[in-house]
Amino acid sequence: MQEFLDSPIEYLKGVGPKKGELLRKELDIATFGDLLWFYPSRYIDKTQFHQIAELHEDSGSVQIKGILRRLVTEGEGRKTRLVGQFRDETGMIQLVWFTGISYLQKQLLIGQEYVLYGKVNAFRDDLSIAHPEIEVVSTENTQMASAFAPVYPSTEKLNNLGLDVKSRRRLVKSLLEKLEPAHLPETLPEYVLKKLKLPSRYEAVLLIHFPRTAEELEAARARLKFEELFFLQMRLLQIKRRRHDEVKGYVFNKVGEIFNDFYQNHLPFELTGAQKRVLKEVRQDLGLGIQMNRLVQGDVGSGKTMVALLSMLLALDNGFQACMMAPTEILAQQHYLSISEYLKDSPIEVAFLSGTIKGKAREKILARLAAGEIHILIGTHALIEPPVVFKNLGLAITDEQHRFGVAQRAALWKKNSPYPPHVLVMTATPIPRTLAMTLFGDLDISVIDELPPGRKNIITQHRNENHRLRVFGFMKEQIALGRQIYVVYPMIEESEKMDLQNLMAGYEALSRDFPKPDYQISILHGKMKPADKDYEMQRFVRGETKIMIATTVIEVGVNVPNASVMVVENTERFGLSQLHQLRGRVGRGADQSYCILMSGFKLSSVSRERIQTMVATNNGFEIAEADLRLRGPGDIEGTQQSGIINLRLADLAKDGKILQTAREIAARILDDDPRLQREEHQPLVLELAKNQKVKKGWSRIS
Ligand code: ADP
Ligand code: MG
Repeated sequence: MQEFLDSPIEYLKGVGPKKGELLRKELDIATFGDLLWFYPSRYIDKTQFHQIAELHEDSGSVQIKGILRRLVTEGEGRKTRLVGQFRDETGMIQLVWFTGISYLQKQLLIGQEYVLYGKVNAFRDDLSIAHPEIEVVSTENTQMASAFAPVYPSTEKLNNLGLDVKSRRRLVKSLLEKLEPAHLPETLPEYVLKKLKLPSRYEAVLLIHFPRTAEELEAARARLKFEELFFLQMRLLQIKRRRHDEVKGYVFNKVGEIFNDFYQNHLPFELTGAQKRVLKEVRQDLGLGIQMNRLVQGDVGSGKTMVALLSMLLALDNGFQACMMAPTEILAQQHYLSISEYLKDSPIEVAFLSGTIKGKAREKILARLAAGEIHILIGTHALIEPPVVFKNLGLAITDEQHRFGVAQRAALWKKNSPYPPHVLVMTATPIPRTLAMTLFGDLDISVIDELPPGRKNIITQHRNENHRLRVFGFMKEQIALGRQIYVVYPMIEESEKMDLQNLMAGYEALSRDFPKPDYQISILHGKMKPADKDYEMQRFVRGETKIMIATTVIEVGVNVPNASVMVVENTERFGLSQLHQLRGRVGRGADQSYCILMSGFKLSSVSRERIQTMVATNNGFEIAEADLRLRGPGDIEGTQQSGIINLRLADLAKDGKILQTAREIAARILDDDPRLQREEHQPLVLELAKNQKVKKGWSRIS
């Protein structure tokens, strides 16, 4: 019965070759099925008519019934517009058209009763509707006052060829009239539908296009969203299970001398509860004989490095090497320095490798690594380049996971035989639960949701140019107290030149207000030579310069505990998670830290909400949730390359509950019937067999 949905779109009544070709080209609709799966982007609520007197500037899109009272053209030449007056019993509203004027003049009749639909605009105190949908009152559209009319995304070309909103509706309607339940076999087990009170697939598809009530629309959406998320989770969980079954891993069952000695004698602080918990989860994984694939999420400063180090010591105790890879040279060096420092009293050999290590030095490292004389290797992606051979790599840790490409991670994964190393991925970009479950649904996830004790919240404030002098005054006070300050400017590729100019202008302004020799200022941006960058960075680290003016290059992992003030310029140009990462550069020492967000006066509502979120909370997960809400999942770093956020209907920012349910039910089914052999699960087998292609590439990313 599948053939029906595979029929070429031309065969549908009212389409034909010409429109068929356009539908293919413009919207990728080639078959009946494509048309069916192209859901409405919104609905016109025709269940009620609004009264003109009640309309206001925030009314949004409304349906009104009334009489056209006046119709005149105003303006001249290209500015000509058609203006109408539309009345109901309660008042009058203006209608405006800028195109199609002569056609409308012929069609529309003064004194005729119409039903119209459109978005209310306000200009000063006058309300108007531009280009409303307008129809003569008929029994159909007044009866339709009990329905939601679907609106489908379209293009200008389609509209011009007569495939406007109304004819699209007609096409879908004629398709639905021919559609039989057998064309859309159920994909979910009967008992799941019953339990969740979801409509059948057939019913849901009819209702998503033409719901009669809000309840019907809700039921259709719930069913279709659930289905999407459920099969996504089924696939992820199957991958995870398969890996557990098939990909063997080294067993690290020993907690030995190296770990114990460090833990008992050299641990510089008591671990937080969260660190202990995550370490325990890692230890459990390592003992199972299957490859560990674990993602550790922890806010900036939550102490991921120590968890990484202790995990590496476990590998060492079991006779293996470990490595840790960071996305930038600066960050990798910092890891190297802090880990060497922690291990300075131990016989453990730690080495650093990056692209800048060349010649003899490099050869020596490679030889010692292959001989097993180096126990822990830390570096950049140079770690996974072909000449690098470990004697026996047991654990590979990557930090700031989303910056690595899929291929790089896969390469690291293959670096060994007979078994792949255990993999621990650390990310400081908190990912909302819903997104993590999807993006990393085939990984195990640990969360470090507790900061080390004594950490003070960073005080964050929003300021503008009017406060500039006071901000400078505050900076001087802080410098007088011995603190250091970051001033950060936005820098993006598209406006690099301007951004660089802004940065230099900012540098000059600061130099005037903070003159030498009392104040020394460092500058750091991406266009500088590595050696110069390093020089400036070191001056700041040593406390010789008091202010570091920089672009977001400092975002990644700079650690200067004495820096306690972060001033962000043009805050409105930064994304929320980026701001959070930046703010994480301060608040690393014992002093009260501050983050001052400078912005222009006029802000978009999204910018305003971002800034308000930053002011309101220091919690990375709350910020990530807000970010997901404000931007949508497609913009969250790491989601594009994964290519999995191809959801038709479900929205990861809003449908967390459905996702949770879908995941739970998928897990339960796989627990009860791992190979899906039961009769009632056969629909699942059929559905899962489809579309497997799309998902293969990223499934083993780590
Ligand atoms: P991140 O999670 O951002 O990588 P780090 O591992 O760099 O965080 O740790 C941030 C700071 O907190 C470091 O200076 C580290 O020494 C310190 N730290 C980590 N864990 C603890 C702890 N349990 N108690 C006190 N300080 C800690
Ligand atoms: Mg870190």
